[in-house]
Amino acid sequence: MTEELLGSLRASAAAIEGELVALRRKLHAYPELSFEEERTSAAVAEWLDGLGLDVVRRGVGGHGIVAELAGTRPGPRIALRADMDALPIQEESSLPYASQVPGVMHACGHDAHTAMLCGAVRLLANRRDRLAGSVRFLFQSAEEINAGAKAMIEQGALDGVDEIYGLHNLPTLPASQTGTRFGALMGSVDQFELTVTGRGGHGALPEQCVDPVVAASAIVMALQTAVSRELSPFSPAVVTVGSVHGGASYNVIPERVELAGTVRTFSADIQEQMPERLRRLIERTAQAYRCEAELRYIRHVPVLVNDDACVRHAEAAIDAVLGRANRIEAPPVLAGEDFSVYLQRVPGCFFWLGSGPKTGAERAYGLHHPRYTLNEDCLPDGAAVLAAIALGRLGVSS
Ligand SMILES: [Zn+2]
Ligand SMILES: [Zn+2]
Repeated sequence: MTEELLGSLRASAAAIEGELVALRRKLHAYPELSFEEERTSAAVAEWLDGLGLDVVRRGVGGHGIVAELAGTRPGPRIALRADMDALPIQEESSLPYASQVPGVMHACGHDAHTAMLCGAVRLLANRRDRLAGSVRFLFQSAEEINAGAKAMIEQGALDGVDEIYGLHNLPTLPASQTGTRFGALMGSVDQFELTVTGRGGHGALPEQCVDPVVAASAIVMALQTAVSRELSPFSPAVVTVGSVHGGASYNVIPERVELAGTVRTFSADIQEQMPERLRRLIERTAQAYRCEAELRYIRHVPVLVNDDACVRHAEAAIDAVLGRANRIEAPPVLAGEDFSVYLQRVPGCFFWLGSGPKTGAERAYGLHHPRYTLNEDCLPDGAAVLAAIALGRLGVSS
């Protein structure tokens, strides 16, 4: 990218900051849960209207929007993606534009991601004569339930795409800073549900019962060894039992106990092995306590693995827009993102964009926290970096 193009991109991003803030606040006040992003999607469509895009498909994979901007010369197709859904959390901020919807909150900043991508569309639409190739914009539904990316891909959102890029805000990183990583950045996500069945009865007469509470307790403990005793300490994985329900009275042995949990790994092979590992530990432990166990294992998303060349392209754009001093190597994390589903099919790069306070004076609450807030300075940053990635990949010098 030439200095002239970069300078005009930065200036344009700064010039639309007010509009991006207004859009983000509008989305923030009316958050919508996964696959219910009707109003959000309409706001995006309204923003895109009049920008001269070549294709705008609505209702893709839920309320998703796929838009395309063709340059004036032929070339590859680069996709940029943002997610639009909110979480079932009651907002506890006292912001004037706090959620107006009880029990629903943009606590993961997808409102900001949507606004940033809208900004990138505007920045690129005004520079289409600088593009050899085309840019596809994916506004995605239902990231929080790991379903939207799959749904969009099934409806052709990735057809013909050569590379894909996306970002996630990170409140623990100051605004204007970024984090990138080669290879695996985020973990795989799976879910399991489990019913342990025994024979209920009087709490004082265990000899007449088969106690599923004791069996379930043993299973919770046994599951910890699926990682600690079966995997190398250098292969990160997590098994968390997040929900245990059984019984209703202090002196009754219940008939059954229900458990639910999640499995995270950092390698496709280990993700593949985990269901059998859990099944063995669960069924044989239940057997040892004369109970029966039924496991339902639900696969969500794979490990998020960045492509080396695409990481370099993203880094070049970040360094051009925000400066090399504002980019760190991101540590790996076992939280998941359904961007990994796109990356299974086409090379790309997902990275962190800081959305935290610029000074250490304020305390930043993390993603998914009822008091999570976002430093809106990150909005023009995100829009400019996304646009710079596309210009870097498709840009022509004159
Ligand atoms: Zn989230
Ligand atoms: Zn998120």
